[in-house]
Amino acid sequence: MGPEAKVRIEDIVSRVEQYRPEMDEDLLRHAYVFAATRHQGQVRLSGEAYLVHPLTVAWILAQMELDEVAIAAGLLHDILEDTDATEEEMKDEFGSDVTRLVVALTKISSYESSYTTREETEAENFRRLLFASIDDVRVILVKLADRLHNMRTLGFLRPERQVAIARETLEIYAPIANRLGIGSIKGELEDLCFKYLHPRAAERIESEIEERAAAAERWYSKLQEEISFLLQEQGLSGEIRGRIKHHYSIYRKLKAQGIDVSNVFDFLAFRIIVDSVAECYAALGLIHQQWSPVPGRIKDYIAIPKPNAYQSLHTTVLGPEAHPFEIQIRTMDMHKIAEFGIAAHWSYKENGSESSSDDSRISWLRSLLDNSRGSSPREFLDSLKVDLYPDEVYAFTPKGDVLSFPREATILDFAYRIHTEVGHHCVGGRVNGRWVPLKTPLKNGDIVDISTSNQQSPHHDWLSLVGTNKARSKIRSFLKREEKVRAVEIGRKLLEKEVRRQGAGLKRVLGSDEMKAALTGHGLSREEDLFAALGFGRLSAQVIALQIVPGEEPTEDELQPPDKGRVASSGAGESISGALEVTGDSGFLVYVAQCCTPVRGEDIVGYVTRGKGVAVHARSCPNVKNLLYHPEREIEVCWAASVGSGDRARSHVELDMVFRDSSGMLTSISHTVTAEGSDIVSCQLRTDTERETGCASVTVVVKDADHLKRIMDHLDTLKGMIGVERRIGRSRT
Ligand code: MN
Repeated sequence: MGPEAKVRIEDIVSRVEQYRPEMDEDLLRHAYVFAATRHQGQVRLSGEAYLVHPLTVAWILAQMELDEVAIAAGLLHDILEDTDATEEEMKDEFGSDVTRLVVALTKISSYESSYTTREETEAENFRRLLFASIDDVRVILVKLADRLHNMRTLGFLRPERQVAIARETLEIYAPIANRLGIGSIKGELEDLCFKYLHPRAAERIESEIEERAAAAERWYSKLQEEISFLLQEQGLSGEIRGRIKHHYSIYRKLKAQGIDVSNVFDFLAFRIIVDSVAECYAALGLIHQQWSPVPGRIKDYIAIPKPNAYQSLHTTVLGPEAHPFEIQIRTMDMHKIAEFGIAAHWSYKENGSESSSDDSRISWLRSLLDNSRGSSPREFLDSLKVDLYPDEVYAFTPKGDVLSFPREATILDFAYRIHTEVGHHCVGGRVNGRWVPLKTPLKNGDIVDISTSNQQSPHHDWLSLVGTNKARSKIRSFLKREEKVRAVEIGRKLLEKEVRRQGAGLKRVLGSDEMKAALTGHGLSREEDLFAALGFGRLSAQVIALQIVPGEEPTEDELQPPDKGRVASSGAGESISGALEVTGDSGFLVYVAQCCTPVRGEDIVGYVTRGKGVAVHARSCPNVKNLLYHPEREIEVCWAASVGSGDRARSHVELDMVFRDSSGMLTSISHTVTAEGSDIVSCQLRTDTERETGCASVTVVVKDADHLKRIMDHLDTLKGMIGVERRIGRSRT
């Protein structure tokens, strides 16, 4: 329904004849002559003859395939308001149907009105118009066509009027067009409003589209060819249309994602029109076989139509070069309903005004108007706006301030909207006088009175109780702060314990040069940050204690001394010095570090300890990073070429497993380890019946890194197993 150069009555007559061969052509021509005569000499702000306006309105109605009564009313819609023609005269000339429509479209002037302000009078006019539309939906259809042409020519008005009219159109007329399912008018109205309300953003989107026009053209023909080949192969005949999405909808989408147009698929979309519902689904299947669908983006509005009766299949697929692009699939009937909504539906019926009153799109309007009885025009307009935004919920504070929320919002969102502290301490609230818990969803018109308590503070599960990102991020930052406070406490205690083990007191080391050096070494500036790092487990208290207690070296306690007797009795970390070689020099005693117990075949690194030989760590051991701050002590080590197959070549490795609680898990683990030619040396198992999970720590004997990997992979495939991990850097307490 693009803007027409200049509409002539002949264009309208021949257009209507196409879809209504039996129509009353005389009525149209008579209305045209009458309008031309009465509006003669009148000029629009554009400088054009006034008649251009009613002619274009009539043309828009003909595009919607309305009957000649509606179109005649379009030609005559300003006659009573702007010329000296009277209602009686019109009845004589055109009969009661056309006259009734035109009367309904005629505003009462403010001196006829019982309201004093222009705003109230306008609101009352609009309510009257909607009342008339319940009886005959053609009233609102003509009004929408009228507004559409006025918006197309809005540029000739003063800038303040442009913005005021654009805002009213965006708040009321476009949403009404949407509720009536008239996608074509809704889309054009929104784009026109966008230009006047956000001129710079509109220009930017326009120029970004223009820059990519050539690329869009290429993609369009390439994909059109591919899709039509796909359909033809399966004997489907479909019409494929590439289209530039509405600018306003591009703007909203990109704004929500905080980005600019980056490629053609941000604005290019495809529509496939096929012959039947079955073919819609068949086409969707073909598309999904060709390109992967993006999860969560498949919408079946055929099975579940939108409230405005819109039907289509929507999907977003990862197209060429992994660019996601949108496809809509529908039949021609669905397409007409998507474009013309209730108008398309209306035109199928013989007696439109009667049958359309059952339409859900009209019954919505009726219940809205019924509820508005007794309210002032202004209140009516406010409640209309509330109802026109189906994706938003409006709730009131006890003082009557209205706050808008997305559909998913709850009482807790409301509390956070009032104030962050109100949110943090919210224990529930009264909705319309009744006590409700935090998670209660907000409904339109709710009056919400929040209750708080000083004892209350946010919990982790609050994150799932709120529907707005704002509330969620406030809860998250509170929890983070809390966690840090707790981590500092824990970290301080951990360090205190370790420092005491070193024979010192925490007070003595705080602020010491060693402490300062340790802070710098770990890239921290304050002791509190160090405590937090310890509390979160990012740093080891043992390592830090060794660094900050004067006169000690990390080798003393961090590394396991090669005390064979002790190692043997502990069962784990058996000395395998025979299996290890120090490159170049062989004067060292070599032993395996207890923190990571590297397995034969693993990447290893040696560290010369003071008086105790060479400790061998796995390269991946987290302690390596901390210990090798004396780089000169690092020494190259490697696995000996052959050590036979005796026990000397075997290591003990501790595996941590998490699994869904099932009674047979221990048996399965044991079978698996045995099947891989290994043995379990020790085992600990715990189950958490509430969470229905269990965890196990199992020490197994392994030959080498490959053997370990096989065991772990096999365990990982057990039914119910969630994860298998090798324990590194285990504590020795
Ligand atoms: Mn008009």
